[in-house]
Amino acid sequence: MAPQRIVIENCAVATVDARDTEYASGHLVIAGDRIESVGAGRAPGDLDGVVRRIDATGHLLTPGLVNTHHHFYQWITRGLATDHNLFDWLVALYPTWARIDEDMVHAAAQGSLAMMARGGVTLAMDHHYVYPRGCGDLTGAIVRAARETGVRFTLARGSMDRGESDGGLPPDFAVESIDGALAATEAAIDEHHDDSFGAMTQVAVAPCSPFSVTTELLRQGAELARRKGVRLHTHGSETVEEEKFCHELFGMGPTDYFESTGWLGEDVWMAHCVHMNDSDIAAFARTGTGVAHCPSSNARLAAGIARVPDMLAAGIPVGLGVDGTASNESGELHTELRNALLVNRLGPHRERALTARQALRLGTYGGARVLGRAGQTGSLEPGKLADLVLWRLDTLAHASIADPVAALVLGAAAPVTASFVGGRQIVADGRLLHADEDAIARSTREQAQRLARIAGRA
Ligand SMILES: [Zn+2]
Repeated sequence: MAPQRIVIENCAVATVDARDTEYASGHLVIAGDRIESVGAGRAPGDLDGVVRRIDATGHLLTPGLVNTHHHFYQWITRGLATDHNLFDWLVALYPTWARIDEDMVHAAAQGSLAMMARGGVTLAMDHHYVYPRGCGDLTGAIVRAARETGVRFTLARGSMDRGESDGGLPPDFAVESIDGALAATEAAIDEHHDDSFGAMTQVAVAPCSPFSVTTELLRQGAELARRKGVRLHTHGSETVEEEKFCHELFGMGPTDYFESTGWLGEDVWMAHCVHMNDSDIAAFARTGTGVAHCPSSNARLAAGIARVPDMLAAGIPVGLGVDGTASNESGELHTELRNALLVNRLGPHRERALTARQALRLGTYGGARVLGRAGQTGSLEPGKLADLVLWRLDTLAHASIADPVAALVLGAAAPVTASFVGGRQIVADGRLLHADEDAIARSTREQAQRLARIAGRA
């Protein structure tokens, strides 16, 4: 039996394939969960099994956006410590974060996922590293929220084991034991990781950062990931304070420290990488280590400007991340396309730093590459998963912008008319189809207030 087909036509198409192929007016055919064809003009009129034909006049069709760094639980601690740098901000928030439980994390994950999905994200990730004693099944709650929203998902099972008494930044009551963290990470992989083509859930091993985990947890975490065949994720080279911390404790900078613990490689991606010298960039390029660039968070916490143009020139895989919403507040990825371009043009490469098309590539194919899914998603090509977004560009905000890709990247946040994950529509006219946004908004507010009460802030 022929697969069910959905035809999208009469729209601009940015495929983000290797040659950046675009069509001013083109079409795409979805067959089952895959892209069957994409090209100029209208789709053939004699296709079998067409269940839906979408006239997408006035729209731009792109691959779905990919978010490569986030902390969902922070959705319920937004708007706090808004004028702090990273270390001061962490110290201000750890005591609150140490009181999270399963209900709070489920609501926060729903809020984070809903905000991303309605803004065109089709592949999301969550780096969760706070597991207070007696908090319940946080991993299960996060994976459940992703299923409810309908996005493809990577859970980076995080951990912290270097409390204040070991010279770390988090208070002792917020950290796990090394054996407990490794056992729970392995259990999360066994229960949730799927390595098949088109997997909806994958798991990565993700100790939090050099200043909150021990060298031994980094080493053993890398061994665990390689034994299980999953990816590795952590924070790296985010601030000058972290660089100073590494020199004082380990006698070397963060990149050399990561290399000494087995944390550079094609299966690793790191958030931020703001403070990288030429030899750090060469080490990432040599080993194929990926980067999650988080321009809004880096600006909000005054961390600095990552050297994205130099990373791209060196061949480093780079994707975009919103980072946790306690250091971003918005939690939307499509605005990060614009911020990546703007922030990098404030750096030394000025107007040549990034083009609008490079920004779109970072947010799609680049993200799929750092999550290890570039063969399956991230561009509009026959055989890939039908993860794609129709952006409406014929309203007041965008109708007079000459170039549709520039309209998407530089213009106001464009409305999402439709978003598909594996051929299944998850957003229609800017609203989620499989989750109730108003109910999620209410429960995130309730859980935020409950956490503030329990943590003694209200
Ligand atoms: Zn982060």
